[in-house]
Amino acid sequence: MRPAIIRQLLTAAAIGVAVSSSLVAQRAANHALDRANLDTTCAPCTDFYEFANGNWLKHNKIPPDKTSLGSFGMLGDKNQEVVQKIVIDDANLVRDGEAKLGSNDWKIGDFYLVCMDTVAMDKAGYAPIRSELDMIAAVKTPDDVAKAFGQGARGGGGGRGGGGGLAPFGLGPQTDPRNSKMVIVSANQGGLVLNREDYLGTNPRAVKRRDDYIAHVSRSLELLGESEAQAASDAQKILALETELAKVSMAQADMRDPVAMYHKMPLAEFAQSTPHINWTRYLQQVHARNVTDVNVRTPKFFTSLDSLITNAPVDDWKAYLRWHALNGAMPSLGSPFRKEAFRWQQITTGVQQQQPRMKQCAAATNAALGEAVGQDWIKRNFTPEAKARAAKMVDNLVSALRDRINGLDWMGAATKQQAVTKLNAFMRKVAYPDKWRDYSTLNLTSGKYYQNQQAVAEWNAARAWARVGHAPDRAEWSMTPPTVNASYSPSLNQIQFPAGILAPPFFDPNADDAVNYGAIGAVIGHEMTHGFDDQGRQFDAEGNLRDWWTPEDAAKYKTAAQKVVDQFNGYTVVDSATHVNGRQTLGENIADLGGLTVAYFAMEKALAGKPHTKIDGFTPEQRFFLAWAQVWRSISRDEALIQQVKTDAHSPSRWRVNGPLSNMPEFAKAWGCKEGDPMVRPENLRARIW
Ligand SMILES: [Zn+2]
Repeated sequence: MRPAIIRQLLTAAAIGVAVSSSLVAQRAANHALDRANLDTTCAPCTDFYEFANGNWLKHNKIPPDKTSLGSFGMLGDKNQEVVQKIVIDDANLVRDGEAKLGSNDWKIGDFYLVCMDTVAMDKAGYAPIRSELDMIAAVKTPDDVAKAFGQGARGGGGGRGGGGGLAPFGLGPQTDPRNSKMVIVSANQGGLVLNREDYLGTNPRAVKRRDDYIAHVSRSLELLGESEAQAASDAQKILALETELAKVSMAQADMRDPVAMYHKMPLAEFAQSTPHINWTRYLQQVHARNVTDVNVRTPKFFTSLDSLITNAPVDDWKAYLRWHALNGAMPSLGSPFRKEAFRWQQITTGVQQQQPRMKQCAAATNAALGEAVGQDWIKRNFTPEAKARAAKMVDNLVSALRDRINGLDWMGAATKQQAVTKLNAFMRKVAYPDKWRDYSTLNLTSGKYYQNQQAVAEWNAARAWARVGHAPDRAEWSMTPPTVNASYSPSLNQIQFPAGILAPPFFDPNADDAVNYGAIGAVIGHEMTHGFDDQGRQFDAEGNLRDWWTPEDAAKYKTAAQKVVDQFNGYTVVDSATHVNGRQTLGENIADLGGLTVAYFAMEKALAGKPHTKIDGFTPEQRFFLAWAQVWRSISRDEALIQQVKTDAHSPSRWRVNGPLSNMPEFAKAWGCKEGDPMVRPENLRARIW
């Protein structure tokens, strides 16, 4: 819903929210790194990812209900097992009449039980969206089309635009990039189901994806009772209309420039540029108040959409609206709809089997009531000692980055001073919120799954809209406690590390320093570096989009960043034609390189004066790099990898290891690599920023 810019360690979809039986072996203390995972037949200076993970990669298989398997997903499974226990315990309380109606325990237990009741869902078929479909059927004029954008389900809805039911755009609260103390409204392109490139591409893969999509849309519309011929013709119209939207949408890599994305204007001015969309009516429909200014991130998209409202036949729009009303709702409707939704997932991700319903519902409950479930999760699974240790680690990394900034030879004193001011202002969130979200006003008594989900979406939307015209809530968390991820927000100048990632193999109180610095230390460094990546560096200590760089230093930064772009453009996945997009992934690649560098020097500081004892035959420096490689070991289905390269800001895991390490002289030294080795980039191409 909220189109905030938040940089995460990885995109949640890339790990697959999947949960199957845990494959995480309990590792004994002092064996934070398992030699058995290595492939010592591969030289570390040739392909470090393979050396560090080769045997693991060879001996593991992707479970049929997942798109990938790796450290993130395996820890996620373990965390999810605790979630599962919590929701089942609460469900038992509800069944036994022991949970107080409306209490958090009751909400958790009942949400889960209602989700499990597939008999009721099957009986309802598509009844939950029938009123929406009736509303769409009554559309007669272009103005009815624009009105329909604001009707129907709020918060859910199809398409990637997010922000509001049927609308082919995202419109929602966002902190003003140039005034971090004020929440305004942000307007974003949207309305696509496929990736933009799949609508526009002429390569066989894109053509096939469009054919598959047409078949999927047709089958889905037939489930609503349309004839085969009607559904096929509607699917063609839908694809054509979405293709028009794709043509006027910006590529993801071009959207990384926050200055180019800033077009704040009074609501009246936005209305003038889009005369066929009545924004006052739209905002009333979504219950928004206090809206005076809008940041129109993609102006060309909106003026083109406005023309399309009158230029495309109303019947085509009706087909589009019908499909988008259905698409977002399918997983919560009767069995044929759920099956078709999963069939599409199989095509696009390569996943073979659906997760057991229990796991789907535990995950859905956690997604809906994250901080209610999270409170219990913390009680069962996390100690204050672990929080204190992790917070200490964050302090050490902040101090290491301060040292790095002060010691940079390419940056002038004026820019350094501003950079350190920004670093000192970082707000640090570790493990879980100080104050838990209050769910008392969330009403979940419908006893119906689709309605429960809508209630959650509307409740979240209302909370977000209530902030417009006020300062953002800096204490709020954007991730739930069991989440295996981390993030940085440029507007809040804030780093966030949920309890879910503060566990092995990321963070292990029993492991040696080198391993912890190479894993969670580099993760912390990664998030901090986002404050200084190609995007983050354009925001100041207060979170405002403001240029605090001297022109000379900015130019030097750009030259170094271009080296990273060129480097990652050269990497491929699956086949030689599928390249990593160096511009799209630039911020993440800079964060990996910077995070590792900072963590490495933080480790050296921690080890200073202590004996550099080898463990399992490896020096601390070697174990540092092995720990990073272990965090990123992963096997993925080809479909998922291709999807990642097209849409994700993060590079595939192999390149998150070999990419940054081949830039680091510290790596070459630790492993005795020489100029000319594949893991040592030539000096003139090597990037070092932080
Ligand atoms: Zn990141």
